[in-house]
Amino acid sequence: MSRSPDQVIRPEILALSAYHVPPASGMVKLDAMENPYSLPSELCEEIAQLAASAPINRYPDPIAATLKAALRETQAVPEGMDIMLGNGSDEIIQIIALASARPGAVLMSVEPAFVMFRMIATFAGMGYVGVPLKADFSLDVDAMLAAIARHQPAVIFIAYPNNPTGNLFDAEAVSRIIGAAPGIVVVDEAYHAFADATFMDKLAQYPNLLLMRTLSKLGLAGIRLGLLAGRREWLTHLEKLRLPYNVGIVTQLIAERVLQHHDILLQQAGAIKAERTLMSGRLAALNGIEIFPTSANFILFRVTQRNGASQVFQSLKKRDVLIKNLDGSHPLLENCLRVTVGTAGENAQFLEALRASLKKSDN
Ligand code: PMP
Repeated sequence: MSRSPDQVIRPEILALSAYHVPPASGMVKLDAMENPYSLPSELCEEIAQLAASAPINRYPDPIAATLKAALRETQAVPEGMDIMLGNGSDEIIQIIALASARPGAVLMSVEPAFVMFRMIATFAGMGYVGVPLKADFSLDVDAMLAAIARHQPAVIFIAYPNNPTGNLFDAEAVSRIIGAAPGIVVVDEAYHAFADATFMDKLAQYPNLLLMRTLSKLGLAGIRLGLLAGRREWLTHLEKLRLPYNVGIVTQLIAERVLQHHDILLQQAGAIKAERTLMSGRLAALNGIEIFPTSANFILFRVTQRNGASQVFQSLKKRDVLIKNLDGSHPLLENCLRVTVGTAGENAQFLEALRASLKKSDN
């Protein structure tokens, strides 16, 4: 007799829920940290022509040398460091986990952190240890150092700035963790464009440091491109797990062309930062919420009324505004919501809907 799925699929996979992407059609979409702006129409025309003449009957260039050169320049990857490309940085996390999943190996991060760190550890059959942040979302260095000594993690992921909290950890604290780690430390700079700090220039200093970035938050989430920068001694092995054609031809062509206009992406990031300042000010002026400092393209806030977050989230949804409800995902995120910074118009719509929702939840 043939076996049923629960006799074949690993129990830890059976126990997982799939990463949930809520439907957003027709809504003001402020849930996924996307760049809200489109590219100038001339550039869109160029992209259309590139796509039209792309040799899509052929496999893509597996090395992607031109694209890597453009990334090296625009992301300031230091001379002597290698680059590995991923189908989004999610895929890079998966490659690192697969490569380091020796029996009993541990992947460590902080909590709350980007949920894929934990999920991918499970996919790869690794143990996962999440060390709680302090109540103000700063790194608990002593707890991290103790957990490192105890679990000897093969890999530590630290998002800098962190998602979903938005704050940038103290650089000195991160350095201490890198120094104490017995294995790899991946500093995930997905939100780098919105922060004024980086560990890219520390690659030469720390032999166990790898630096991950993505083009998703910069305005190219739809083409799926992430990169890992680091020493050849690590990347040669990780490259073996990268499936040969993981970055498609259309992604390569579009990314190369858009990166020739990197200034446009940076201007858009600048506009998002300016909107973030405006939005933070307006949120801070509202009664009934507490906002947290951010160095990313989103803002975390807490609804102060008991059980208010879910009510506010649903009420925003009814007003066609989609944000992220984090209540229940971690004790430190009780009653917390996360909103991505959108265009001025979207942010105004969000704020108006939020004011109305907060009034409603007061009653
Ligand atoms: N790292 C962090 C911290 C993120 O928040 C995200 C996306 N939400 C990613 C990595 C993955 O991004 P992508 O796969 O689009 O590159």
